[in-house]
Amino acid sequence: MATKVVLLVSIFLAFGANQVCAAESKGGYRLAQAEKNKAANESGIFQGKARIAAEENFSNAEPVGTSSDKAMVTDIRFLTTGTYTRVMMDLSQAVRYESHRLPADASKNLPPRIYVDIFGARLAMNSKESILIDDGLLRQVRVGQFSQDVVRVVLDMTSTRNHDAFLLPDPYRLVIDIQGQAPAEVPAPAAKNKPVPVVTAKEKTSPTVGIRKVVLDPGHGGKDPGAIGVGGIAEKDIVLSIAKKLAKKLQKEMGIHVVLTRKDDSFIPLEDRTAIANAEKADLFVSLHMNASPNADARGIETYYLDKTTDEAAMRLAARENATSRKNVSDLQFILSDMVQSMNLEESISLAYRLQASLVDGMSKRMEDVRDLGVKKALFYVLVGARMASVLVEMSFITNKSEGRAMSQENYQDAMVEALYEGIQRYAQATIAAKTL
Ligand SMILES: [Zn+2]
Repeated sequence: MATKVVLLVSIFLAFGANQVCAAESKGGYRLAQAEKNKAANESGIFQGKARIAAEENFSNAEPVGTSSDKAMVTDIRFLTTGTYTRVMMDLSQAVRYESHRLPADASKNLPPRIYVDIFGARLAMNSKESILIDDGLLRQVRVGQFSQDVVRVVLDMTSTRNHDAFLLPDPYRLVIDIQGQAPAEVPAPAAKNKPVPVVTAKEKTSPTVGIRKVVLDPGHGGKDPGAIGVGGIAEKDIVLSIAKKLAKKLQKEMGIHVVLTRKDDSFIPLEDRTAIANAEKADLFVSLHMNASPNADARGIETYYLDKTTDEAAMRLAARENATSRKNVSDLQFILSDMVQSMNLEESISLAYRLQASLVDGMSKRMEDVRDLGVKKALFYVLVGARMASVLVEMSFITNKSEGRAMSQENYQDAMVEALYEGIQRYAQATIAAKTL
């Protein structure tokens, strides 16, 4: 625990703080300190947002045009903990891009770098300053108009790191994830004191050994109400209520550290939610949603993991949850094929089946006609790039009279929380069993 000091060097630059940042980076720091409470959650993740522009080392391209065939790079944001950094670039349209790594160049006094070339693009940002990050992984981010139609983003690193880069649409944003060295974590101090770990009977059966931290993601929020159901109830309110109850229960009864991607009715971009889970190094990421259908009779529970699909209904659902078009979902399956397949697929499937079974069992005790719509796969942006077992649960249909009404009542919400809790517990136990094989 003592080694986990991640707070100090991160900065938060609010939109309104651009001038301060541009004028004097120290000013940005002072401001960052002042804004710290707003930006940080309890674990010390900071989010930054700044607009930046052509850096002097880049070519002196003419002022930004407005030609509609070019993608505009309008903004750069980041989120950092010091062991994980996500940099996000806002774009006006889809782009082709390439990312590369460069070693340090001592003769030019340059650190190891990752750079991304965005083709057919123009810078459309105001400030001329690079974004200072200085979080132990990244020193700073520089961006400039490298040539007539190439915007180059350079990440000055402290050492050579692996990275992932991927594009999300609606609005388009290019995401770069950088993971620091996995620190010698939790077991290290214990191992020092006790060379031979003694596992007591209690520990053996305790589910908390398998899962240390869970990030719960109540879908939607703020300007995005999610689906609207019977009597005008909003998905965002039901999922927030359930997430808070579940967080309390997991903390109290399993001793699991739970982080919520939102605690109130605020809007959080989908890519920030995954970034929070990665930054927290969570063991599980569970995104909570309510289903919707134009058919008022549609009802039931389904759980999703991230993978390509040809199922039309799953693609339509993903389009709705992603706030994008059905076409974008199928286009993106192709673009994201690497990301979609590489991350924790088996664990996610295992988690999905346990949650689904537990939800169907649990709710069947409380409601009639609980339908098991099964475990499915689809491309949900909120799951892309997650580095842990991650699922999205459609807990029931908000547009169905009996399910929608039930889910706005405390006692049914409590039953859902109980069932989700059971599912997570079953997964935790299975994880331990697998590790002790
Ligand atoms: Zn939703």
